[in-house]
Amino acid sequence: MEIVRSHRQLAAAAGGGGGGQGALPTYRTAPQLEVRLEEFELFAIDRLRVLKGISDGLSRGKKPEEMEKLVSELWKTHMRHQDPAETLNKDIISHFVLRLVYCRTEELRKWFLSMETTLFRYRFRIESPESQRMLMTEFQLPYKALPHSEFEAVKDKLTQVARSMGQSASVESVFFKVPFLEVPDLVASRRVYLSKGYAYVAMSQVVSLVVTQFRCNISKALVLTNRKWIATIKEQEKDRLTPIVEALSNAYFGPDYSQPKDAAEISLKDIDQLATSSFPLCMRHMLDKLRENHHLKHGGRMQFGLFLKGAGLKLEDALAFWRAEFSQKVGSERFDKEYAYSIRHNYGKEGKRTDYTPYSCQKIISATPGVGDHHGCPYRHFGEENLRAALNRMGVSGHALEEIMDKVKNRHYQLACTLTFEATHGVSCDSGINHPNQYFNESQKILRAKNQTVENRSAT
Ligand code: SF4
Repeated sequence: MEIVRSHRQLAAAAGGGGGGQGALPTYRTAPQLEVRLEEFELFAIDRLRVLKGISDGLSRGKKPEEMEKLVSELWKTHMRHQDPAETLNKDIISHFVLRLVYCRTEELRKWFLSMETTLFRYRFRIESPESQRMLMTEFQLPYKALPHSEFEAVKDKLTQVARSMGQSASVESVFFKVPFLEVPDLVASRRVYLSKGYAYVAMSQVVSLVVTQFRCNISKALVLTNRKWIATIKEQEKDRLTPIVEALSNAYFGPDYSQPKDAAEISLKDIDQLATSSFPLCMRHMLDKLRENHHLKHGGRMQFGLFLKGAGLKLEDALAFWRAEFSQKVGSERFDKEYAYSIRHNYGKEGKRTDYTPYSCQKIISATPGVGDHHGCPYRHFGEENLRAALNRMGVSGHALEEIMDKVKNRHYQLACTLTFEATHGVSCDSGINHPNQYFNESQKILRAKNQTVENRSAT
């Protein structure tokens, strides 16, 4: 399939452009166009990388200036197109694809709305004033600049507010008078003069007005898209788009860890020591439970077994490892008959001979472990008390522990794991933890470097 509309037609259809140099679409209506299936997915993945980067930045508590830089870098890295004329198309297509992906549950809608609004806010701020005014017109905001006489009447008050924000004495000359409910962020942070139910919004603050409207439009659109998805699209597209849409909200975009890094190997005898130094909490927990019960249910065997494979445990060692534990519970004969097959299967030695990939954090976090299961992500699936105790056993306490628990409360599980990594290794992990094998590899790298330094010191 081809994208049949030209850049300009598409931009106009979707509320794109904004005039002048501006290239910020308002995404008011879905463009009528045909998109190649592969672009449908690839564009969405690129936009998702931007939104996930924004989500990480926000949950790390980055300041507005840092967010501005981050958003601009993410956009440059992921949303460029090799054909510059197609960049706007990519922007619009990817937004509408993700609208479909993220309309399907309340939780997904909330996340998407929040990330798209943040993205729009930072992109709007770098538009030229002329383009900003055109966007206001596109959003059909009914506000007119304050007439001179009215401006003069409140000028002193406006100057006071400007001073209280540390701005220079000369107040801006273009203001809009709007119902205060439309700029909740400016009211909450006392950055606006209020009188008789109206807020006086400076030209440099109109981003708040526009963003409120943008948020409201996208929120309504997501609900409508969800209705259409349930009523028609899901069934109509069940062999083509539906599987892509359903997979995208859980997609993991990092490296696949099916092969150990640099052909590294771990041996049976080192597993307990490696667990203490370098396994993430999910895998430590499963090793503890395996040692305790001499058994793990299917979900645990898959999650832990594939992790060990990705960490470099060879098939023969894996068989010996699982046999040593399981035979204490079910006997070696039953182990060989019922369990050895699935271990060989994970290594691609049975069945379709697929080399199975270790699970990403996203996949593990979205699992729903039942009673007696030990797989899943402790940050998501443990109760508070258990999690605190488990983190204490890893040597995490005090301020670091409270920070981690705070992230867990706000459902930033991977960030909580990243903070645990930082607290236990004493170094920052800017890329964030996205995969248990990434946690393991990064940890090993740090420990090797530390050992090397000690060796060098003792050699001199
Ligand atoms: Fe494991 Fe990922 Fe959860 Fe960390 S965030 S415990 S690596 S699933």
